[in-house]
Amino acid sequence: MTAKIIDGKEVASKFLDDIKNKVKDAKEKPGLAIVIVGNNPASEIYVGMKEKRANNLGFYVERHNLKEDVKQDDLLKLVDELNQNKKIHGFIVQLPLPKQINEQMIIDFILPHKDVDGFTPVNLGNLVNDDNRLLPATARACMELIKSTGVKLEGKNAVVVGRSKIVGKPVSLLLLQENATVTICHSRTKNLKEHTKNADILVAAVGKADLIKKDMVKPGAIVIDVGINRVAGKIVGDVDFDGIKEVAGHITPVPGGVGPMTIAMLLENTLKAMEMRKGF
Ligand code: NAD
Repeated sequence: MTAKIIDGKEVASKFLDDIKNKVKDAKEKPGLAIVIVGNNPASEIYVGMKEKRANNLGFYVERHNLKEDVKQDDLLKLVDELNQNKKIHGFIVQLPLPKQINEQMIIDFILPHKDVDGFTPVNLGNLVNDDNRLLPATARACMELIKSTGVKLEGKNAVVVGRSKIVGKPVSLLLLQENATVTICHSRTKNLKEHTKNADILVAAVGKADLIKKDMVKPGAIVIDVGINRVAGKIVGDVDFDGIKEVAGHITPVPGGVGPMTIAMLLENTLKAMEMRKGF
């Protein structure tokens, strides 16, 4: 079997076209602010892509670059300003943050209805309640890529490798919403292969190149590779793409899979945040 490649750019383009049309018809521009601290090269790339896409779709975009040694209070002050700023419907603080910053405290300070990353305790709590108003963008991206295959999820075995609060846990909850039977694996899981081998849907969100090998995948499975790893100057995911595409039914490439969809979902959240504000 040769797996069908799930083209993240193609799936994303449908969402982006829809967003573009809505922005064209809207009375105001959706306002997105992006806060970046320091000079982390990966963060620079991700922020650059988000900013470019948002500009292309006609958003109002603000970028705030803060120095690596910024003080917690100064970052909180900026978050507070963005919370109050009427032009900004949603904003993100690009993670990771430097050591002197208490990351959770910063996230807690973002008003939930402007939290377009979906990381605040309120929005994560909403997800536990099956209320999907502002979902973490990467988790939602995984779900849309899975749904694009047309495979029904009800009763299927879904295995998520990784339990972070920004990817692993939210994607597990979303799979549960679709009535899949969900197993969450993590760094302390014994015999990872015994679990992954049973997966009709396998989501790898770890950050370790080649962690998931061909013999760990059930024939015909949908494999979603969230990982981003730099190996010998190349970006690769968490799964052995070349090996696994011989056994899987569907697989996402890295790059070109989850990444472009994540950006589309962030922009959709911003539009949603603008629409939600009208309801206040
Ligand atoms: P994280 O470091 O917060 O979490 C990693 C998880 O992997 C942990 O829950 C840990 O328990 C688990 N883990 C570690 N070693 C393991 C092992 N040997 N076996 C099984 N599980 C193991 O990372 P994160 O923020 O969830 O991100 C995961 C990956 O996804 C990273 O490579 C990140 O760069 C990437 N990512 C991509 C996008 C995107 O848009 N494509 C977005 C977010 C994150």
